[in-house]
Amino acid sequence: MSIAEIDLHSALKKYFGFSGFKGLQEEVIKNVVNGNNTFVIMPTGGGKSLCYQLPALIKEGTAIVVSPLIALMKNQVDAIRAVSEHEGVAHVLNSSLNKTEVKRVKDDISNGITKLLYVAPESLTKEEYVDFLKTQKISFMAVDEAHCISEWGHDFRPEYRNLKTIIKRIGDDIPIVGLTATATPKVQEDILKSLGMPDAVTFKASFNRPNLFYEVRPKTKNVDADIIRFIKQNEGKSGIVYCLSRKRVEELAQVLQVNGIKAVPYHAGLDAKTRVKHQDMFLMEDTDVVVATIAFGMGIDKPDVRFVIHHDIPKSIESYYQETGRAGRDGGEGHCLAYYAYKDIEKLEKFMSGKPVAEQEIGHALLQEVVAFAETSMSRRKFILHYFGEEFDNETGEGGDMDDNVRNPKKQVEAQDDVKI
Ligand code: ADP
Ligand code: MG
Repeated sequence: MSIAEIDLHSALKKYFGFSGFKGLQEEVIKNVVNGNNTFVIMPTGGGKSLCYQLPALIKEGTAIVVSPLIALMKNQVDAIRAVSEHEGVAHVLNSSLNKTEVKRVKDDISNGITKLLYVAPESLTKEEYVDFLKTQKISFMAVDEAHCISEWGHDFRPEYRNLKTIIKRIGDDIPIVGLTATATPKVQEDILKSLGMPDAVTFKASFNRPNLFYEVRPKTKNVDADIIRFIKQNEGKSGIVYCLSRKRVEELAQVLQVNGIKAVPYHAGLDAKTRVKHQDMFLMEDTDVVVATIAFGMGIDKPDVRFVIHHDIPKSIESYYQETGRAGRDGGEGHCLAYYAYKDIEKLEKFMSGKPVAEQEIGHALLQEVVAFAETSMSRRKFILHYFGEEFDNETGEGGDMDDNVRNPKKQVEAQDDVKI
């Protein structure tokens, strides 16, 4: 081990208490420490934060971290402060700060105390902040959730579009680190282009989740009964059932309860107190099942979710992957069961009809991939990984037999409304 490697390991231990790096972390961190433009693609939970936090703590100057979620920024700042001698080691700069607080942040940066400065992209457009940051020693710029830059991503944010211009104004030669869990080649291209770093060294981890079993069933009018049967066969296990609408969430949660299943609803229409309560019930195992809209899941880290059911097919493969990815985080069993009827696709198309044409076109293209996935007779895993630009061989790859099509090869299935299960 070279001195530099020993240093990285001891810094990892000192600041984070971890005894080893995960996956590609060490290579990424070396690249960032060396001041190169870097592009990191790792699935959710892969440990992307550390890829900029550790270099920031080691390097001279302040690293600017752009992230779209204020709550997540605050969590990270608290965590870093907890292991540092000086509270000023990490700050969030946003519109909620008063003059005194802003001055304090600026002083800590000028005095070389602040190693990590978290900013929301819209705050970074503020003339005053840019003028100040221009005069400071900036170690690098990390753009977390970098897929927000792309209209092909699932979470496009217009404010992300101007980042490159702003970074250039702060400093012409500031190294950039982009990070995302979105693996589609189109989004990746967009990110590299928008951040103006065609030379970036790219690190991409595999998106294969070998312990997840993928299954698609035709959706019939008996779908509720089928879900009940499935859950009863998995009694006592934790699971999530995703529905498209709040109304369906409420109805299905009730149907499950009536059938003796411990289930609670979760959607953005419920008041905050109820939402927190239901989420806690799930984490504390006071309920087995959460029936939810996609409002449920972000930042929920329950390791032993045993199944994720899609009562309605999601609007993209990306969403499907993220949502099913909440199963089997602990490496144990995770059954991903989606119900598919073509008329649900038509419904999703209809939802988009009020949107700008460009957005509709993208939405339509993403939906066509979902149709192809649902109707394919090839390995689901192979399909998903191919979508993410990854070659997968079912003979040699991990989890190669973990989907319905591989287990029970069949002719192409098409959604029919009157199929008996
Ligand atoms: P991502 O942003 O890729 O979704 P996070 O950065 O939030 O992932 O990290 C996911 C989890 O992995 C966190 O709980 C984090 O503390 C943990 N983690 C990260 N790196 C390591 C490591 N080297 N050893 C052990 N745990 C780690
Ligand atoms: Mg992250």
